Amino acid sequence: MDTFTHHDFDDHEQVVFAHDAETGLRAIIAVHDTTLGPALGGCRIWSYASEGEALTDVLRLSRGMSFKAALADLPLGGGKSVMMVGPDRPKTPAMMRAMGRAVERLAGRYIVAEDVGATVADMDEIATQTRHVSGLSGSVGDPSPWTARGVFLSLEAAVRHRLQRGLDGLRVTVTGLGNVGASLVAQLVDAGVEVSVADIRPEAVEAALARGAARSVEPSAAHRVAADVFAPCALGAVLNATTIPELAAQIVCGAANNQLATVADGERLRRRGILYAPDYLVNAGGLISVARPSTKLSDAEATARLEAIPETLLEIFAKAEAEQISPDAAADRVARARIAKGVRKATAA
Ligand code: NAD
Repeated sequence: MDTFTHHDFDDHEQVVFAHDAETGLRAIIAVHDTTLGPALGGCRIWSYASEGEALTDVLRLSRGMSFKAALADLPLGGGKSVMMVGPDRPKTPAMMRAMGRAVERLAGRYIVAEDVGATVADMDEIATQTRHVSGLSGSVGDPSPWTARGVFLSLEAAVRHRLQRGLDGLRVTVTGLGNVGASLVAQLVDAGVEVSVADIRPEAVEAALARGAARSVEPSAAHRVAADVFAPCALGAVLNATTIPELAAQIVCGAANNQLATVADGERLRRRGILYAPDYLVNAGGLISVARPSTKLSDAEATARLEAIPETLLEIFAKAEAEQISPDAAADRVARARIAKGVRKATAA
């Protein structure tokens, strides 16, 4: 398993392999870039098939956080951590405290928050060992409504840009009806959208139908349903060499992280004439919310950052069209340029 020559290494500042024999902790903390500020990013607690898979995941997610923070105009860098758990290595409060000590050793260069598999209770355990943690109980609360709001406003802007119309009467397919997806469905229904929904959990589908969604569709076929917009709000890699040729929507705008399976898939979408709203830009609402304590942003300032997401999205679309590149490639370029111009604000490296 190579690290410095890994295809997703991308000049990471620091990659820490953290181990604690007593609790079984095996974690990787990746700090991609702290030019704009300390690296804030979630801790994913997952049963990885291999250490290589965990490393790839943390490197990709960490770089994504640098770009997300830069485009959201937050004084933050990008980082992420993963904890490798499994049936023989279950997550325990003691393991979370060991993770807290590993975060503490980075002296504020990395601020940990929740991600898939982590709970507020886990963050509370981490907080017994370090103050470099966000998303504690009684703190800023669930980031999902912020994420859903940013996706909704972005979807509205993408529709106006591509279809020159408003949302009333539009057809949108939302796949993944969890914390973000369910909130997005409610906002779309209220705006007069005909919403098709998909989830592997029947109870989530029932709840969405009760909230006003028009119909449910099979999760594996959701991208093939005739619609104006496809909104992936479940897992990553849904846009790939198999699904893109079958996509029946003109616009893709959803909350899921890492929607493109590979960098080639952004270009694949562009060639098909499908407008892609870059995931890390449109789903930045959650980060803006959890960043409030560490960045000292007031609620009003955070809301202004959230409401500026569609404006940035339109700039990205314009740049992509002018340079004849895909919007995700344009977003990467703008994010890298903002970081390159930034002033180093993080704790001294
Ligand atoms: P969640 O776990 O609450 O919801 C995910 C939903 O997807 C669940 O209802 C699950 O049953 C469903 N699902 C899983 N596999 C599926 C499949 N194959 N087809 C259809 N549905 C499937 O997660 P969430 O917090 O709502 O986040 C959704 C996505 O948005 C994730 O990719 C997450 O990384 C991303 N995201 C979330 C936030 C946030 O604030 N929560 C912020 C940024 C990005």
